[in-house]
Amino acid sequence: MADCLFCSIIEGKIPAQKVYEDDNCIAFRDIKPQAPTHILIVPRKHIPTLNDLVPDDAALVGRLFLAAKQIAASEGVAEAGYRTVFNCNAAAGQAVFHLHLHLLGGRNLGWPPG
Ligand code: 5GP
Ligand code: ZN
Repeated sequence: MADCLFCSIIEGKIPAQKVYEDDNCIAFRDIKPQAPTHILIVPRKHIPTLNDLVPDDAALVGRLFLAAKQIAASEGVAEAGYRTVFNCNAAAGQAVFHLHLHLLGGRNLGWPPG
């Protein structure tokens, strides 16, 4: 989609530190990491927010989590623990309106989140 930051990263128009990719998604390091490991797992399909998911996206969302599991292992945070987060809309602080799963790890993460 035009004027979408993450579509531009997917298309290679904007550089990113890619750590994983498959037919459905790509994953790259967050530019402003909130933890020692902070990866964004992004479907190739442009979906603005969690609110826009449709039943046909069910397998795609599952694949995002399977990618998260694999990346957590390769980043070395799987056993210690990590968090996956979708921020949806303003109250959750969503800033990029192309669905993305945050994977955070490498430190103790507080609960409840801010
Ligand atoms: P949101 O707040 O929408 O859930 O998360 C957006 C994330 O994208 C933020 O954590 C932010 O640091 C990250 N981000 C914003 N612009 C860029 C960029 O150009 N490159 C990368 N790698 N991450 C970005
Ligand atoms: Zn997009």
